[in-house]
Amino acid sequence: MPATNIAPARQRGAGATADALSVLNSVFGLPGFRGAQEEIVRHVTDGGNCLVLMPTGGGKSLCYQLPSLLREGCGIVVSPLIALMRDQVAGLLESGVKAAVLNSTLSFEEATAVEQRLLAGDLDLLYVAPERLLTPRCLSLLGRAKIALFAIDEAHCVSQWGHDFRPEYIGLSVIAERFPNVPRIALTATADDLTRQEITDRLALAGAPRFVASFDRPNIRYEIVDKQNAQTQLKAFIQQRHSGDAGVVYCLSRAKVEETAIALAKAGIVALPYHAGLDAGRRARHQDRFLNEDGIVIVATIAFGMGIDKPDVRFVAHLDLPKSIEAYYQETGRAGRDGKPSTAWMAYGLSDIVQQRRMIDESTGAEAFKRVSIGKLDALVGLAETANCRRSRLLGYFGESPQAATCGNCDNCLSPPLVRDGKVIAQKLLSCAYRTGQRFGAMHLIDVLIGRLTERVKQFGHERLSVFGIGSELNEKQWRAAMRQLVAMGHLRADSEAFGALKLTDTARGVLKGETEILLREQTSGRDRPSRTKSRRGDLAPAPGNSGQATDANLLGVLRAWRSEVARTRGVPAYVVLHDATIEGIAASRPRTPEALRDIPGIGDKKLERYGRELIELVNGTAS
Ligand code: ADP
Ligand code: ZN
Repeated sequence: MPATNIAPARQRGAGATADALSVLNSVFGLPGFRGAQEEIVRHVTDGGNCLVLMPTGGGKSLCYQLPSLLREGCGIVVSPLIALMRDQVAGLLESGVKAAVLNSTLSFEEATAVEQRLLAGDLDLLYVAPERLLTPRCLSLLGRAKIALFAIDEAHCVSQWGHDFRPEYIGLSVIAERFPNVPRIALTATADDLTRQEITDRLALAGAPRFVASFDRPNIRYEIVDKQNAQTQLKAFIQQRHSGDAGVVYCLSRAKVEETAIALAKAGIVALPYHAGLDAGRRARHQDRFLNEDGIVIVATIAFGMGIDKPDVRFVAHLDLPKSIEAYYQETGRAGRDGKPSTAWMAYGLSDIVQQRRMIDESTGAEAFKRVSIGKLDALVGLAETANCRRSRLLGYFGESPQAATCGNCDNCLSPPLVRDGKVIAQKLLSCAYRTGQRFGAMHLIDVLIGRLTERVKQFGHERLSVFGIGSELNEKQWRAAMRQLVAMGHLRADSEAFGALKLTDTARGVLKGETEILLREQTSGRDRPSRTKSRRGDLAPAPGNSGQATDANLLGVLRAWRSEVARTRGVPAYVVLHDATIEGIAASRPRTPEALRDIPGIGDKKLERYGRELIELVNGTAS
């Protein structure tokens, strides 16, 4: 392989930004930086340390890839996940960057070859697993090589309190000790203060600047719907809104994962299950198909996701309530890394609150831990119940104050729910629970309120109570929604030891006496259907953010098929060949010359050289 010709100038100073831009364009085919990228790249290229906090899809990789190309020597990237390293390196190689990995998947000979290339100055970027980096052999190797920088990806893995803690990460403090003059850049998408502080301490970043991007994901549309028949609702959501798209469906239990995958497959949706109970081979096959093929839906427990770098996941659906807003944000965040319109959809009902509460109550954790867990669950339920903008609520939870109170891209902003005075409804419901002895669950209370003479009602003589039939102004669905909101507000509590019996809490008294204001949200009927914007536009993709250019559907299909074929023969994920945004750019502008093709974001010099002729032929050969 000839010596690298990617970085035309490796000097620092005044020309650095111009160099950075030219490499961004020639190698990655991108016209400009996003947000703080430019500042970060300049800072690190100039030799500074820093901590970068950016949401998933924010564009963290370029923050260390570019300085590695601009500085002398090889950039060392510490990354915890082998699959992630592999895909990143495949993408870099596609763009003509000299990248390699050092991890346990290599044979001794392969690893030795990589080491030789590092020492010979023949690598721009080297991805290393943390446990590998910590070995004396590797540290000594790095001591003899010219190192451009250390990038510590997923830096929150140093946090012992976080859910992704990796003991090997603790050892990474050795980097600052052994290589004090090599810049260190730590990156994470985890927002909270405690984690930031731990990263700063462990990686010796005190005094180094923190670059904090907004955690907003404007391309994700948040939608939370009333759960009725979750599977039917999910099928309709996928078929009407995301037909043919790649997506992830999260369920709490393995059994539900299996069941849901089967139901979706029966409806003609290509859906594959993924959970810890499947044998490793099958799990890996399903993950590979999801990554490499277009339009696969993975139905999974939370075991799936970490390290999934797929940029074109168009939706994340929750059939069960996650544990916290953090978990919800992380899981939904796997949609739309490429910045294109995507949907975070969740179906949620009273039983979800009851189930999560039961899991906390029955857990063996200390009381303090249970209290924290309940607080986190309550915050998430608050998000699910809010009649206001979901995005403001979400960002507010992470300490950000959004500029506008409405985002225009969540269900509540798009079709504001009706909010009504619910004092009388609440009083009827609470008295019904009280008069029936606080021993019954939602279904029975609704029967009594509506005045249904069921066997159970007769068995307990509840038709003789004053509350029998006092609630005929609402239907069953409306009562269910009211009940859920009263639980969410904390006036009713589902007792997990009494099979979900609804009991009054201390605050219920104020409601019964009419001292507490109660506002109830009523679901507008359009909720489960595609939003108005979309049906009017007649397309199936989520509405906002589309380029406005008419995309040539015929050419798009041809390009996708071509990409799948190339990906298969090269053994890399489809998005490593070309991103969706690039394919769509080609279909929209139909470039007929290499220059025109090179102008499409995502087409750098190497991709033009490799695929240019074929792509132009496809454009010319496909009638519009
Ligand atoms: P992160 O690691 O923060 O989750 P990535 O680095 O994987 O994000 O980038 C997410 C997506 O954004 C990728 O598809 C990448 O190509 C794209 N991207 C990053 N920076 C830019 C930019 N300056 N212009 C256009 N696209 C970008
Ligand atoms: Zn909103």
